Amino acid sequence: MKELLFGTAGIPFSTEPRNTVNGVITARKLGLGCMELEFVRNVNVSKEAAPEVKQAAKENKIELSCHCSYYINLAAIEKEKRGASRSRLVQAATRLDESGGTRGAVFHPGFYMKRDAPTVYPIVLEQMKKARKELDDKGHNVTLRPETSGKLAGWGTLKETLRVCNEVENTLPCIDISHLHAITQGGYNKKTEFEDLFNDVEKELGKQALRDMHFHAQGIEYTERGERNHLPIDESDFNYRDFLLVLKEYKIAGTVICEAPDPEADVLKMHKIYQKL
Ligand SMILES: [Zn+2]
Repeated sequence: MKELLFGTAGIPFSTEPRNTVNGVITARKLGLGCMELEFVRNVNVSKEAAPEVKQAAKENKIELSCHCSYYINLAAIEKEKRGASRSRLVQAATRLDESGGTRGAVFHPGFYMKRDAPTVYPIVLEQMKKARKELDDKGHNVTLRPETSGKLAGWGTLKETLRVCNEVENTLPCIDISHLHAITQGGYNKKTEFEDLFNDVEKELGKQALRDMHFHAQGIEYTERGERNHLPIDESDFNYRDFLLVLKEYKIAGTVICEAPDPEADVLKMHKIYQKL
């Protein structure tokens, strides 16, 4: 990508009547560049409606990603549950592709379930390779985007996420900056820490990955176990000004999705600041 686009998680609140096509049109009217389809409880764009969404996204120049089901655990103990999780991932990614989405299918890969990290890593890796193959076999070359975990129990430290992206084709990270902040008990909030983050991405995935990034950015409240809930950026300690500054300085391209309680208000705020930098 050449530039950094900003958008909402889900269709903007001001969308009337509330459906995906109108959400895309509203995003354009607001001056945004992307939007994340929320397939978190179900894939809420039907196969029949997907071409319409694709057309609207193209006409309005809105780049789409999707957030896959919350009920995915590629590291489940039971084999059947791993398979069912993989199907949910593949199903959402397929529908994103059919809807013309180019920014990737974001998902929480799974849970450690009290096992140590080296035990769980190969399990997640295997399932992601299988998911990739299933999508490729059907001609869906949509990018898989494992998201950095906000909870200690959730699989996916920054290191693990970058590593798995390196090992699976057409897989890139979804960096949730508030999750990194929560899981490190207040880290990833200084200018130097944001710089370190991009240096780490470049080291593991190469410079081209910095031109194809996908973020979740919002405020967060956390406990010793990590994420509790998302907060409006101005009611949190998120140092978004420096985050935006580093994005600009490092010429980061891709998409920034805001998952704040009012994504529209906060993403417009961040976009405005970014444009003026
Ligand atoms: Zn997420």
